[in-house]
Amino acid sequence: MKEKSKNRKWQFIGLVAVCVFTAFLVVLFIRMEKEAPQVDITLDSTAFGVERTLSMSLSDEKSGLKKVWIGLFKDGKEKKLLEKAFPASGWLRKGSVSHMPLSVTVKPKELGLTDGEAMLRMVVTDYSWRSWGKGNHTYMEKQIQIDTKPPRIEVLTDAHNISPGGTALAIYQLSETCPKSGVRVGDTFFPGHQTGQDADDPYLVFFAMAYNQKKGTAIRLEATDMAGNQSRAGFYHYIKKKAFRKDTIRISDGFLDSKLPEFEPLLARRSQQPPIDQFLYINRDIRKANKQAIDRVTAVTDNAIHWDGVFKRLPGSATRSRFADQRTYTYKGKTIDHQVHLGEDLASNSRSPVPAANGGSVAFTEYLGIYGNTVILDHGFGLFSLYAHLSGIDVEKGQAVKRGDIIGRTGKTGLAGGDHLHFSMVVHNTYVTPLEWWDASWIKNNISTKLQTIGYGE
Ligand SMILES: [Zn+2]
Repeated sequence: MKEKSKNRKWQFIGLVAVCVFTAFLVVLFIRMEKEAPQVDITLDSTAFGVERTLSMSLSDEKSGLKKVWIGLFKDGKEKKLLEKAFPASGWLRKGSVSHMPLSVTVKPKELGLTDGEAMLRMVVTDYSWRSWGKGNHTYMEKQIQIDTKPPRIEVLTDAHNISPGGTALAIYQLSETCPKSGVRVGDTFFPGHQTGQDADDPYLVFFAMAYNQKKGTAIRLEATDMAGNQSRAGFYHYIKKKAFRKDTIRISDGFLDSKLPEFEPLLARRSQQPPIDQFLYINRDIRKANKQAIDRVTAVTDNAIHWDGVFKRLPGSATRSRFADQRTYTYKGKTIDHQVHLGEDLASNSRSPVPAANGGSVAFTEYLGIYGNTVILDHGFGLFSLYAHLSGIDVEKGQAVKRGDIIGRTGKTGLAGGDHLHFSMVVHNTYVTPLEWWDASWIKNNISTKLQTIGYGE
């Protein structure tokens, strides 16, 4: 009996020892995990300017984050940007932080670093027991470029005469490649485009004044380099005065009766409202949405001059409305709305063939609210022409057209009372008067002569 209980005691001790050892192995196995911390960082540009903020997110699911170190190495010197330790907790001493968003701002001048190549280095460790308790680590290094000098802008064109609702062209050179440069007119930015692949190839920018911008509007060139350094340069320009006409449009019940059914799909439940309310919704809200849709089209342009010479006006047509006419809308003798007409209305015979005003590529061919069936041509470098109220469209998006090619037929789709062509010229996102583009001597004096200096249209 004594022998038996002694055996049982030893068996029990053995079992406990096995359990303790197994538990020890399990803990060891868990705490010795070999998953390195994760670093999520996007370096969209490796150029660091006067000030650069790096945002990242660190994570370590299994053991938790222990330490992060970030530094810059340049000319054999090390500059610490950030060092941060995270606490451990619990009897297993795991990290209490498993996920951490971090941002660090780098100001090379304050760190005493000069312009040139440098190495960004980063080490992140976790609370794993691996490597005799040192943990797993993630090491990253990235070659970067410190550049704190703003780009130099040299304007190559001399005269820039412009009026409200008018266009001008500037050509300039930059001392380094810049992802963003162009002319700012008041609050509106017109992006410039480089004419070739080489760093010293000139940039070209069509810029415009909106019809309602005044004499005294600030016009300057801007350039931002890869490191985010920005330069501004004034350049000689002369703003001419310009006045626009006033016009009154009487909305009749007959017009509403004939037009509103076309807009029913866009009005949805509003088509139950009084016809004049439906009209106001179209004239204000749909007009605004259509303008935004056109802005999206004209934000994308070809870096090419697709056109040559004077722009073609609809042959044999009479002008019914002018660019920037200040329109007052009346209904039953009362003023109900004000809008500005941003094109020229040209009337000819019904369903007249509409020629492309100049060479371009077809950027848009769709039905667009108040504009009805619409074609937009990209003439290159942000210059567009727009043809609205068409009864038919004869071109497809992406197609190249020459001056005079028939792109469609006039009509009265959209918010048009009778058959006519609504013709607009657009520079980036600003509507300009087509009269300048229909005038051969204006084009020669203000545009072509400048383009010839950099080898276009010789
Ligand atoms: Zn019109």
